Amino acid sequence: ILSTESIRKSFGAHCVLDGVSLSVRKGEIVGLLGPNGSGKSTLLNILSGFTPSDGGAVNVDGHDVTGLPPHAIARLGLVRTFQLPSMPHRMTVREVLQAGCRREAGLGGALRRWRYDAEVARLLDQFLLTRVQDQPASALSGGQKKLLSIATVLRSRPKLLCLDEPTAGVHPNLRSRMVELLKEVNAQGVTILVVEHDMEFIRELCGRCVVLDRGALIADCAPRELVENPRVVEAYLGKAV
Ligand code: ATP
Ligand code: MG
Repeated sequence: ILSTESIRKSFGAHCVLDGVSLSVRKGEIVGLLGPNGSGKSTLLNILSGFTPSDGGAVNVDGHDVTGLPPHAIARLGLVRTFQLPSMPHRMTVREVLQAGCRREAGLGGALRRWRYDAEVARLLDQFLLTRVQDQPASALSGGQKKLLSIATVLRSRPKLLCLDEPTAGVHPNLRSRMVELLKEVNAQGVTILVVEHDMEFIRELCGRCVVLDRGALIADCAPRELVENPRVVEAYLGKAV
């Protein structure tokens, strides 16, 4: 559903991505790991159209999306959340979810509104946000903002969901609930690529993981194989073992 070919990106003289080729098959949940500053967020920004690459190509579900703007890539089925979600001011949680719900052609206004309401109610419930639906979105806790940002991008029924550190700053109880949630979302047909530092989360959620270090992919394996991979251990400890 996703493939990248030799993605390159530098900021000034600093080469952040040096030819990254990655593929994700339909239905997978893939973890994207790597030390701080290894380029994970930059790679997500390039896949989703928020940052132009210096070279290479991105293909989403059979479409060459290289250089397309974010909304065009989202329409082809790739959505993403941000490491630090920002919420619009003066909108409640429910309004954030309602805004931009996609129009269903051929349905009358009342029926369409009813469909929206049902979908919004389902997402609020699934993402544990029903209780806070009338609060301003900007006043949510960090963990609740992460949940709302995931629920919001799922509204468009994407094929591929890219998440940037969904559990950073999230309480352990909610973290395990988030594993279940993302498995539910995956079972409903959404492929997932997730940037994450929490190894337990990765082990519980992902069938496969890839590791970025100094601009290159250094591993592509099952989560439990990571600890036996000397290149990964070296990347994290900064020395050979
Ligand atoms: P973390 O785990 O801390 O989130 P990351 O793997 O997501 O790290 P990136 O945010 O992709 O890392 O950053 C990779 C490198 O690119 C960093 O050294 C960062 O300083 C640099 N970088 C990212 N965006 C820019 C930018 N807009 N201008 C200049 N340098 C940038
Ligand atoms: Mg990052």
